[in-house]
Amino acid sequence: MIATNKCPLCYFDLSAPPWLNGTASHEICPCCGTHFGYEDSCGGDEQARASWYIERRQKWIDSGMPWWSTSKPPEGWSGEQQILYLIAASH
Ligand SMILES: [Zn+2]
Repeated sequence: MIATNKCPLCYFDLSAPPWLNGTASHEICPCCGTHFGYEDSCGGDEQARASWYIERRQKWIDSGMPWWSTSKPPEGWSGEQQILYLIAASH
């Protein structure tokens, strides 16, 4: 898997890859609130983690893609647009 700075759940641009060689960044995604290496650790099982992201992503979409952090989202931010990028990237 190629390490990107994208949040695997919501596709937000993070400051570092959330996971690199099995080690988490311990960053919290300001967009969806995922704490990498904590709630998504899944006992180190990458496949379980992938399903966890899919499940949580659906919940985030269903709840209207809210911005998680108390700090403001980047100008022009759109959760919907992010999901469209994610869908485009996964094809
Ligand atoms: Zn996120």
